[in-house]
Amino acid sequence: MNIYNNINYVRQNLPAQCTLIAVSKTQPLERIREAYEAGHRVFGENKVQELVTKYEALPRDIQWHMIGHLQTNKVRYIVPFVHLIHGVDTEKLLAEINRQGAKIQRKVPCLLQVFIAREETKFGFSPDEILALIPAMEKYPNVRIMGLMGMATFTGDHAQIQREFAGLKALFDNIKSGELPPNVEMKELSMGMSGDYALAVAEGSTMVRIGTAIFGNRNLSQP
Ligand SMILES: *Cc1c(COP(=O)(O)O)cnc(C)c1O
Repeated sequence: MNIYNNINYVRQNLPAQCTLIAVSKTQPLERIREAYEAGHRVFGENKVQELVTKYEALPRDIQWHMIGHLQTNKVRYIVPFVHLIHGVDTEKLLAEINRQGAKIQRKVPCLLQVFIAREETKFGFSPDEILALIPAMEKYPNVRIMGLMGMATFTGDHAQIQREFAGLKALFDNIKSGELPPNVEMKELSMGMSGDYALAVAEGSTMVRIGTAIFGNRNLSQP
C-alpha cells in the first residue's frame, strides 16, 4: 500500500479545482505523516476525540475536516481549529456551533448535510428543510455556510447514485442562484467517497472525501 501513489492516482481523476480530503479515520499517525510527507495537507476525521488527538500531534499547516456526525456536547473541542464541519444536520447543532464560535469570535465554516439516500440510517436535512433554513441562517452569525454535503445510497446501482448526486447539485444551484444571507456562500459541494467519487465529480462535486482508496481498508472492528 503506497499512500503517495494512491493520492496521485486519485488526484489524476479529479478536476484541478476539486479538493481531495484524505479521510484518515482509524489510521495511525505514521500513515498520516506519510501522506503529509507526500505533500498532502487536507485530512478528514469522523470522531471528535480522534480529530483533536491528531490535530495536537501533527503539523499545524494541516486543514482538518470534521466529516462525521457531530454531537452538540463535543462541538466546543473542535471549533477553535476545524477547517470545515461537513455534517451539520440539525438546527440544535447549528445553534451550538454558533454559540461556541461567538465565544472565541470565530465564524465557523460549515456545510449543511442533505439527506439524499434511500437508507433509513443516514443523517441530514431534507431538501425542503434546507430551503426553509437558508433565509433563517441570519440567526447564526458565527456560522459560515460554505455549501452542502451529501452521501449517496450504498448500492451498486450507478444510475441511482448518479440521480442522488444530480439532485443534490440541483438543490445547490437553486440555492446559489437565489438571494443569500451574508453568512451563506454556496461555494462547496462535498460529495463522493472511494466507491462513488467519479460519479460525484461528473455531477459537479467540489470536495471528495476519500479514505479506503488512499489508505487501504480500515480495521473492520472500528468502521
Ligand atoms: C469514512 C467516510 C468517508 C470515506 O469513505 P471511503 O469509502 O473509505 O472513501 C467519506 N465520508 C464520510 C462521511 C465518512 O464517514
